Amino acid sequence: MNPRKLLVVGAHSADFVWRSGGSIAVTVENGGSATVLALSYGERGESGDLWRGNPDQTVENVKRIRHEMAEEAASHVGAAFRCLDLGDYPLIVTSEATKSLVRIILEEKPDVILTHTAVDPFNPDHPVAYTMVQHARLLASGAGVASAFQSITPPDWYSFEPHQPELSEFYPNTFVDITAVMDKKIKAMNVMSAQSYLISYYTELASRRGNHARRISGNKAIKFAEAHQRHVPWVVSEL
Ligand SMILES: [Zn+2]
Repeated sequence: MNPRKLLVVGAHSADFVWRSGGSIAVTVENGGSATVLALSYGERGESGDLWRGNPDQTVENVKRIRHEMAEEAASHVGAAFRCLDLGDYPLIVTSEATKSLVRIILEEKPDVILTHTAVDPFNPDHPVAYTMVQHARLLASGAGVASAFQSITPPDWYSFEPHQPELSEFYPNTFVDITAVMDKKIKAMNVMSAQSYLISYYTELASRRGNHARRISGNKAIKFAEAHQRHVPWVVSEL
């Protein structure tokens, strides 16, 4: 396969690390490139460790720290980091914000877009990000037909694994072998000290998904994997 260009869109600046850090690193190892776009810094809802016991903390300072952390984590897996800074909990999508995302998709011309699931009963922002990405992807790719707008080839489109997959209607139909880059994912996760409780959880999940990937493929060398849900059918020249 030709080197791939990946665009990972998260509602909050740390989301990409847990759910797609390994898949990003694999793309980059294979000669491709990746951009992480955060719609917000998760400054209110996902930065508990930065607020706790710190009465003088400010939103601006939390955002600054979260930006630095996300940039560092992204560098461990070889991705560039950008943030639209739309605010979190709630993440509000204006038509201006959607236009910004369309512009970024047109600019990046990704082969693959990876984002949240449509359903997440435990997070108010993740499904909002999914809908925004779905909308912007269609606008950027001319909704599949030639039109008066600038457009790109429709990128492949996946949801990465949510925290509670069964309750978020997540159907894992694509597994990425991340064994060779697991050390990079761990380094990226270690940067996110504001959500330290997630590090062991996502290391265990990668091992469990690795077990599934081994059984599905028969490839005994797979130790760690990430699961995603592909939304668009494959178009192939041969089965
Ligand atoms: Zn999040």
